[in-house]
Amino acid sequence: MTDPITADKAHCWHPFTRQSEWCDPAHEPLMIVRGEGVWLFDSNGKKYLDGNSSIWTNIHGHCRPEIVEAIAKQAATLDHSSYLGLGHPLASELAEKLVSYFPKNTLERVFFSDNGSTAVEVALKMSLQSRMQTGQEKRTRFIAFDNAYHGDTLGAASLGGVNRFFSRFRNLGYDTQFVASMDDLKSTDPTTVTAAVIEPLIQGVNEMRPWPKGMLAELRAWTDAQGIHLILDEVMTGFGRTGTMFACQQESVIPDFLCLAKGLTGGTVPLAATLTTAEIYNAFLGPAENAFYYGHSYTANPIGCAAALASLKIFNDEKVLDQMPEKIAFLKQQLAELKSSSAHIVEIRQCGLIAGIQLSPGLGLQTTLAARHHGLLTRNILDTLVFMPPLCISQQEIEFSIDAIRKSVLKS
Ligand SMILES: *Cc1c(COP(=O)(O)O)cnc(C)c1O
Repeated sequence: MTDPITADKAHCWHPFTRQSEWCDPAHEPLMIVRGEGVWLFDSNGKKYLDGNSSIWTNIHGHCRPEIVEAIAKQAATLDHSSYLGLGHPLASELAEKLVSYFPKNTLERVFFSDNGSTAVEVALKMSLQSRMQTGQEKRTRFIAFDNAYHGDTLGAASLGGVNRFFSRFRNLGYDTQFVASMDDLKSTDPTTVTAAVIEPLIQGVNEMRPWPKGMLAELRAWTDAQGIHLILDEVMTGFGRTGTMFACQQESVIPDFLCLAKGLTGGTVPLAATLTTAEIYNAFLGPAENAFYYGHSYTANPIGCAAALASLKIFNDEKVLDQMPEKIAFLKQQLAELKSSSAHIVEIRQCGLIAGIQLSPGLGLQTTLAARHHGLLTRNILDTLVFMPPLCISQQEIEFSIDAIRKSVLKS
């Protein structure tokens, strides 16, 4: 084989990447070869703190022995078996475990898929089809929020409000009305809406922007009153990132659909789940044509289920959530100090262990690249630097990261 970078530039195509820049002879891409705890190592042996949790997936650090062992054991026992017309014990156990985080008789059914986009896609299709089967054919539209991000498959993308990614596909996919805030809902015709979709507590791709406190509970009350389903996209916020297992728990909200992916396996292998209620599920019983004809080859992959169960066991065994308030408070204090160190830090936004550090216009990319030299890997969204480390990060490692950012931001 040719060396990996040459082969990459000759044959690979990266997501969300301008390939002309990537393949420029002057560009030397980082090749990541190993992970351990919060650290990633490149092909030259240099180590970096994974300040972006490998695009918001990693929870307990890289290559956690408990998860590695569970994956290895499952790979040697049953690698994959179809979930169409067959079951397997780990999917049963994982479904039971996932619904156990919610009160009895609320979210009680789990539909597995592969990634965040499909978890959302499943909820959208279920909501629509359930209307067709309960005499509510008029409810065909969705409500989504400006600047929302729900994934890149066409259906999920049609609920995406980030115009620079999605505007060219705007007329394809689902009929969606975009709103900016709760106030805008008053101008919708609720009788034709099947579901409202939101990233609870904080929008991720929209440069880490938290919603006003109480807004989620308000949205739940409004959707309930209008007979509209509430779909919560917790693909980013799920599994402890905001300080509670799920973001919706902070406003005591239970949605009709809960979409989970990224952190479900602790950030190791792809797996997603869409949780829903008996009311939705029951609409799919009855005649054959009422079934949910949807699925993927790797639905409920046993290795993914083993990884997810091992990750949830770590939450339990190590009381991960109990350690969050202290870490979140420490990060908050560090971010406040960071802000006072440079006039180029315009605003800091934080929700749990998720932070967006908004810089002066034009500084996003250069600061991201400078941070690499100081041992921190992260990404900028426009001019907002994301800091979203694995939950297992120590105070010392938080200090290291913030220090790397401080050294990377231009002094005024
Ligand atoms: C990442 C993300 C998705 C899409 O998940 P993929 O696994 O990349 O398809 C959907 N919604 C939110 C909120 C996300 O952060």
